[in-house]
Amino acid sequence: MSSTTINAHAANSPGGALEPFTYEAGELAPNEVEIDVIYCGICHSDLSMIDNEWGMSAYPLVGGHEVIGKVASVGSNVSHLAAGTTVGLGWHSAYCGHCESCHSGDENLCATAEGTIVARHGGFADKVRADADSVIVVPDGIDLESAGPLLCGGITVFNPLVQFDVKSTDKVAVIGIGGLGHIALKFLNAWGCEVTAFTSSESKRKEALELGAHKTLNSRDESEITAASNSFDFIISTVNVKLDWNLYINTLRPRGRLHFVGATLEPLDIGAFSLIGGQRSVSGSPVGSPATIEKMFQFANRHQIRPEVEVYPMSQINKAIDRLKSGDARYRIVLSNL
Ligand code: NAP
Ligand code: ZN
Ligand code: ZN
Repeated sequence: MSSTTINAHAANSPGGALEPFTYEAGELAPNEVEIDVIYCGICHSDLSMIDNEWGMSAYPLVGGHEVIGKVASVGSNVSHLAAGTTVGLGWHSAYCGHCESCHSGDENLCATAEGTIVARHGGFADKVRADADSVIVVPDGIDLESAGPLLCGGITVFNPLVQFDVKSTDKVAVIGIGGLGHIALKFLNAWGCEVTAFTSSESKRKEALELGAHKTLNSRDESEITAASNSFDFIISTVNVKLDWNLYINTLRPRGRLHFVGATLEPLDIGAFSLIGGQRSVSGSPVGSPATIEKMFQFANRHQIRPEVEVYPMSQINKAIDRLKSGDARYRIVLSNL
């Protein structure tokens, strides 16, 4: 097969506007798949990478790791996918396949897994390539326009429910009702939990109830958080800012867990006594394994869970990014090549 020319949108410097960027993808490797991108969600991690907030960006940087598309072609070793199959691609584009994590079905924990937008070019483009093992078949019944955000935002909040055995009788809180947080409310409600939304946006309190929360609290109001002491078995934080974590730990019940998926840059300043007393835990996790992503699709299909999306043409990508930065997006922005 000859090389493919890919038309993408790239940042050429930290924080720079995205500009048209065309590159030659070369020969398709035997284990790879080439995908025609139909939709691609914009995750806050795309902004962090464009801005080099995590110190690992390489330019030109093509973001986009919530891809829904159709297989355009497959490498010579790929037998389980064929041209025309509807697939999703999330944060990971390749796993080593032979480390202990990969052998255990924890590919998302593989130390040498490749990020779709880390030293690779992502889905803000007409095409994207990835190893076949990281490409997920989208089952019938899933709404394609809103499915992209499940591939990163969705799996990042679904995975902890599986990893930590969250029970339907648990009282669970979500901090930050953005792209990740709003999907968490939907999943947790369907999971059977009593769900509380912590938001800093008063305008989202009513919406959070419609998304699946049973209660809402202000995430920056000390008195509201203090009044909720001893309330939650599990808290998922999706914010990327520093909050008063000790206040939140005191809202945990005995054996409760404060779990981070939001990439807060400031170090956590947590008192040991509040963990020791109630045997509480603090933890974090990345996206999920391919098998857990498949499980999430089945769960979303059964419960008719769809992310709330605002759709922009791919050509208006800079406008779409400004909208995400404004904090007004409800709740995930998706770019469309249709
Ligand atoms: P997002 O759509 O921008 O949502 C973040 C939410 O945080 C906002 O909607 C807002 O919710 C809250 N927030 C923002 N500024 C705040 C402030 N100053 N004080 C209090 N709350 C504030 O972002 P996202 O796409 O959901 O991503 C969230 C985080 O998860 C990012 O750090 C991203 O990089 C990370 N992430 C991690 C993984 C992983 O593998 N662990 C995967 C994907 C994303 P309210 O309006 O409700 O307050
Ligand atoms: Zn993401
Ligand atoms: Zn591995």
